[in-house]
Amino acid sequence: MNILVTGGAGYIGSVVVEETINAGHRTIVYDNLVKGHREMVDPSAIFVEGDLLDRPFLEKTFVEHDIEAVIHMAAYSLVGESVADPSKYYMNNVVAGISLLDAMRDSGVSKIVFSSTAAVYGEPEKQPIEELDRTAPTNPYGDTKLAFEHALKGYERAYGIRFVSLRYFNAAGASERCGELHDPETHLIPIVLQAAAGSREAVEIYGDDYPTHDGTCVRDYIHVIDLARAHVKAISMLDEKSGIFNLGCGGEGYSVKEVIEAAEKITGKKIPTRISDRRPGDPAVLIASSERIRSELGWIPEYQDLSLIIESAWKWMQRKGTAANTGN
Ligand code: UDP
Repeated sequence: MNILVTGGAGYIGSVVVEETINAGHRTIVYDNLVKGHREMVDPSAIFVEGDLLDRPFLEKTFVEHDIEAVIHMAAYSLVGESVADPSKYYMNNVVAGISLLDAMRDSGVSKIVFSSTAAVYGEPEKQPIEELDRTAPTNPYGDTKLAFEHALKGYERAYGIRFVSLRYFNAAGASERCGELHDPETHLIPIVLQAAAGSREAVEIYGDDYPTHDGTCVRDYIHVIDLARAHVKAISMLDEKSGIFNLGCGGEGYSVKEVIEAAEKITGKKIPTRISDRRPGDPAVLIASSERIRSELGWIPEYQDLSLIIESAWKWMQRKGTAANTGN
């Protein structure tokens, strides 16, 4: 199939592109390179530099490459930034997304897989979180992702565009070629590894007074390769129906302290830590029920063990030399 991947030069997008190519799909990356990295795009993919708000160019790209399905991953994803600058988030995550949907409708492209987020649930009512649980985002980032899910439902009803929305939990780890390279870095695992490499002084633990077994927040970490493979399965499902799925491993999850301990074992380094205030908007525990995606898509994570996730990220950082040059 000919698949357009928006945001395919980003961290998760570049691994999704590797997996669509492995599955035999002709893959076209559409990215404006505001956040993405051109060199992360698999050389077997076709790269198109473009903006989603440029409707004529987007539609021309659909025609030129005979696009049959879209994986929409282009978005901003920093909670704090979304609170400080909601305009940026609504413009990119909602307005640009609607431009994409309109271009699909007008070009007869009727399948889309969307990168959504656990942030749509806000402060969850229970664990593990199921897809039908209440959605009540606590920040503009989550609001924009939920708004786009609502748009998808409307566009399906009115224009017959089928969708799969994948609500990501904590993506981490790396493939051989692609790993996490944000600037600034805010995610726990790369930060912990930077501290292990000595390019960051210490890891700040955002709160150790949560109602969890060791007082630090618990998250559901999912290897980026497992996450990417779910997109390939989602594409196949679009022949039949639409759906919304949590994308996490389930289980017990791991606390911030457990992540740091596992990273110390893997790297063989002592990781200095500092307890600091809670980060606003962080729920104590976020664990997916992954029952639905396992049963309906037949998705089974291969790298569920936290050490495999951290090890892949560590190896990637060492290969790239990023541990040495991405402090703070
Ligand atoms: N965290 C932390 N120190 C950091 C970065 C993150 O203690 O420097 C915690 C954060 O509060 C959360 C967990 O690690 O409980 C995972 O955070 P991350 O930003 O990686 O993902 P999120 O769960 O926010 O999507």
